[in-house]
Amino acid sequence: MENNDVPFDLIEKASEIIVKSGYVVVLTGSGISAESGIPTFRGKHGLWKRYRPEQLATPEGFAVNPKLVWEWYNWRINLVLNAEPNAGHIALSELEKMNIVKSIITQNVDDLHERAGSRNIIKLHGNILEARCIRCDYKMKIQKPFRDLPPKCPVCKNLLRPNVVWFNEPIPMDVLNRAYEEIERSDCLLVIGTSGVVMPAGAFPSIVKRNGGKVIEVNVDETHISWIADITLRGEAGKILPVIVEKVKKYLK
Ligand code: NAD
Ligand code: ZN
Repeated sequence: MENNDVPFDLIEKASEIIVKSGYVVVLTGSGISAESGIPTFRGKHGLWKRYRPEQLATPEGFAVNPKLVWEWYNWRINLVLNAEPNAGHIALSELEKMNIVKSIITQNVDDLHERAGSRNIIKLHGNILEARCIRCDYKMKIQKPFRDLPPKCPVCKNLLRPNVVWFNEPIPMDVLNRAYEEIERSDCLLVIGTSGVVMPAGAFPSIVKRNGGKVIEVNVDETHISWIADITLRGEAGKILPVIVEKVKKYLK
């Protein structure tokens, strides 16, 4: 999308809603990190060596072939370590510093919101830069891809696994509760770069609407959330969100 396609009139309306809201919460998906070079699962770069993420990011896939799963994670860990936050991540952290955005609920397992300076982040699906033992309590930070695959626990010698939530796995209760608390408080939800098909995050917009709040979507494509959104801003997060920050600043002057 070219710069002159940015829907300025709709951004103006969205910014007004954002400024007038009391408790703005953000929900992000892999689309916000796409402009940092981290591919989304659903889209043209979604395939890795002909495997679908649904085959690799599952407890079943790990049980069958932990080495293959770790090869895929090594590839993704490398992408994250070499990526930088983009203008979209930075715009969200600015909105938090202005005390407009209260929290970010992300489905992303990368650390780009943190590195952009956001503080109140709820990571629904865990952290790709951590590994944990499948048996004991051992957990470690990952600073570079593993050399010997699959990696083993230094304490009990069982397998290490990525500290992420896979398909068919529950989100840890404390994390989920924090997310629901934010969603219930929210009178304006910004939904950015998520297809809305992964649950429970896909249901958050309808909770905010049911409570009388507004939903604003930023996405390059139509999604499962578009029909429920009060405003849909069609375009790249890295182009749209900085314009929102500018408009919000003008309103606050
Ligand atoms: P998804 O892959 O299902 O959907 C991505 C969405 O982003 C799509 O709707 C697409 O139209 C949109 N999009 C793509 N580029 C965009 C851009 N520049 N600006 C705005 N929107 C853009 O992703 P999801 O909804 O997050 O769910 C899939 C799962 O994949 C999540 O569980 C997540 O943990 C995982 N995942 C995470 C990462 C990451 O951490 N960066 C990357 C890939 C997948
Ligand atoms: Zn162990």
